[in-house]
Amino acid sequence: MTAAQQMTNASSLYAGERHDWTRQQVLDLFALPFNDLLFTAQQVHRMHFDPNRVQVSTLCSIKTGACPEDCAYCPQSARYDTGLEREQLMKVEKVVEEARAARASGATRFCMGAAWRSPKKKDMPYVTRMVREVKALGLETCMTLGMLKDEQARELAEAGLDYYNHNLDTSPEYYGEIITTRTYQDRLETLDRVRAAGMKVCAGGIVGLGEGEKDRAGLLMQLANLPEHPESVPINMLVKVAGTPLEDEKDLDPFEFIRCIAVARIMMPKSHVRLSAGREAMSDEMQSLAFLAGANSIFYGEKLLTTGNPEANEDMQLFARLGIQPEEYQQYADESEVEADLGARIAEQENDPYFYDAAK
Ligand code: SF4
Repeated sequence: MTAAQQMTNASSLYAGERHDWTRQQVLDLFALPFNDLLFTAQQVHRMHFDPNRVQVSTLCSIKTGACPEDCAYCPQSARYDTGLEREQLMKVEKVVEEARAARASGATRFCMGAAWRSPKKKDMPYVTRMVREVKALGLETCMTLGMLKDEQARELAEAGLDYYNHNLDTSPEYYGEIITTRTYQDRLETLDRVRAAGMKVCAGGIVGLGEGEKDRAGLLMQLANLPEHPESVPINMLVKVAGTPLEDEKDLDPFEFIRCIAVARIMMPKSHVRLSAGREAMSDEMQSLAFLAGANSIFYGEKLLTTGNPEANEDMQLFARLGIQPEEYQQYADESEVEADLGARIAEQENDPYFYDAAK
């Protein structure tokens, strides 16, 4: 059997969804030669996605700074002096204006983030109105507001919120080095509530926090072993902000970041894996490697919450150079419509001399 056939067989092992990963299995993926890992990830990616489409989201900070939590990487924590200006909750009209601008620049999903431990009762009428009005523009909606109670998750779902973002950040073992004001279990419970209310889950983490590879493996294991894989998995690279405890953290080897994307793609084959914070510091070449490893979602816009994000038009130029198109926002009735659409796109590409159907 040739090496290529062996790799094709290997990729078929990963084609399905699994929820029983062991740490050693994940570490074995991380330990693959780089080219083999990327090849496998790209094969798995092609079984479930059009490889030349990337979903584009825009993030809007609806309430910035003064957060009571102590996440060691975050400039929004009130505990660190980072020079960030605190802001009140943004007016609904302003949020809608930003959403319109995001739609005009090609975003299909609008993510609204508030620096809260959890939303208060008095905030809920405002945030649910934001969801309704942004949705009325034809955009998908996502929010990240901190921990949720059952009732709050239900209210957001009733307003039509599509996704709720709540990251696990890192492995359970390393978590205590990064945050002490809420537990890992608190985070898992919020994710459960989001699911129970019927919303889609956006959950990922941050690498470059000083953690080891076993922690990156532990984070991905936690995400992939959830009862359902998160539909969206943001993989953030630490943005070192002066004034936070991690301002002098050592840089992570960029290849380690790409490995993390590839392993996430293999373990959660149907999820959108998102390049999130830290993208501004990545070269075009590194971003293209991340797409090759299976990343198929980005944030664009002038800001990624409070850290810089490459200008939207630079992203579109990079897409054009790579032959990538933004993914359209499609509303499907069920899984069979998703499969039919993917089949049609694959059929369109079959005459391309470089087409390779990894599913065969
Ligand atoms: S990451 Fe979120 S919860 Fe943690 S300090 Fe920043 S805004 Fe607060």
